[in-house]
Amino acid sequence: MTKEMPAKKAADGNETTARRTAAKKAPAKKVPAKRAPAKKAGAARETADGGVAAKAGGTGGKPESRTALVRRARRINRELAEVYPYAHPELDFENPFQLVVATVLSAQTTDLRVNQTTPALFAKYPTPEDLAAADPEEVEEILRPTGFFRAKTKSVMGLSKALVEEFGGEVPGRLEDLVKLPGVGRKTAFVVLGNAFGRPGITVDTHFQRLVRRWKWTEATEPDKIEAAVGALFPKSDWTMLSHHVIFHGRRICHARKPACGACPIAPICPAYGEGETDPEKAKKLLKYEKGGFPGQRLNPPRSYLDAGGRPAPPLGAG
Ligand code: SF4
Repeated sequence: MTKEMPAKKAADGNETTARRTAAKKAPAKKVPAKRAPAKKAGAARETADGGVAAKAGGTGGKPESRTALVRRARRINRELAEVYPYAHPELDFENPFQLVVATVLSAQTTDLRVNQTTPALFAKYPTPEDLAAADPEEVEEILRPTGFFRAKTKSVMGLSKALVEEFGGEVPGRLEDLVKLPGVGRKTAFVVLGNAFGRPGITVDTHFQRLVRRWKWTEATEPDKIEAAVGALFPKSDWTMLSHHVIFHGRRICHARKPACGACPIAPICPAYGEGETDPEKAKKLLKYEKGGFPGQRLNPPRSYLDAGGRPAPPLGAG
């Protein structure tokens, strides 16, 4: 996973106002023309609930009100929903057990790498009982491509054992149970709850942390505080898809080191516009995955993704 960089720049009041006007006239999905980089943000202050009252997000240099922040955050999510109507979890899975294992394996590697590795794992060990009783060396060999394979073997075998001994071989559908499983923290638990059980959850991964700070939704740095601050800006029913939209955008356009601002559909409403490449042609070259003409990360993506023109990832060994 890429190390994050803190957000440093944002628009001043005049530019924000101009951008809002522009955004009203033109759909946000349109790639913006080249513009001057945004200036550094004014001081932002953290509110009691972890939200931010920031000059950057407001107008005329005044601190942004809570209502304005909520409106602005929801607007960004709406725009992202239009850009990524097919957003989905990028780990291949067919049941909650596969999802919890795949999510644990995704630490410090890409979802693509995990998707290329798990078919062999689940073919050999389809149930928690099978994996709990496996020969650790054989599991290590299968997991080797995902990195940290010894620790990951311990985690997935340990969590399989816990599932068998404490939950009758089923993945529990409650946060408080999931986080007791070896290798499962709140982030993994919410991925599983949101995508395998349909229970709303915010997934605060590295992309989510970076983007919500760039957008001045929160100044919090700890995942739990980010989760609480951002969760308070949205209805619970939006949480899972919000997470997918933000993570899709972070992976494809708003990268850690070089955000592709000049090719970003939400540039007109982004307080961090200018933090990355603003030249449209140069920015286009930075796009990743399907927006850059490359396949996504799933070998078996959902139908909606394929219908929208997305391409599945190549299997391991396909080059
Ligand atoms: S890529 Fe888009 S969302 Fe990210 S900083 Fe640039 S304009 Fe903002």
